[in-house]
Amino acid sequence: MSPVIRFTILENIKNIVIFVSNIKNNHFIMTKEELMRKAIELSMENVANGGGPFGAVIAKDGEIIATGTNRVTASCDPTAHAEVSAIRAAATKLGTFNLSGCEIYTSCEPCPMCLGAIYWARLERMYYGNNKTDAKNIGFDDSFIYDEIALKPADRKLPSEVLLHNEAIKAFEAWADKEDKIAY
Ligand SMILES: [Zn+2]
Repeated sequence: MSPVIRFTILENIKNIVIFVSNIKNNHFIMTKEELMRKAIELSMENVANGGGPFGAVIAKDGEIIATGTNRVTASCDPTAHAEVSAIRAAATKLGTFNLSGCEIYTSCEPCPMCLGAIYWARLERMYYGNNKTDAKNIGFDDSFIYDEIALKPADRKLPSEVLLHNEAIKAFEAWADKEDKIAY
């Protein structure tokens, strides 16, 4: 066998091995572009279905775990943003509050609430399509929340005051003393 033919056969075998290893549980592993396209597709569909123009996908090892769309007005739920919805669905599906090892693909850069949820969920990585300015340009301006976070509570637009600290701290003391707690 000539070296060229041998090389070609070995290359073909290598490609078949790569092809087979890309199939898991009879599903093709999706690329990050394909996963983002799914999030974008969800955002488009959601506009037609009475929701906001936002979609999110949570994936693990290139497979979709769960998806979410913005259902704030449709569900009368101000927290029903696409990312929070996807996180809730993924956590329920996997039966865990810790989504480390998963990635989020969101059609738009997340608002502070969703960014916080992404950190709390311990998501490994985030991809986003549209950015904050794109969102602001169509009436979804969350920059004021980012600005507020940087301020001291007393300087924020939201009036707030400390109340019954001595009583509230008791739950923290109980937590600190609890031996069988699940830390998160
Ligand atoms: Zn959000």
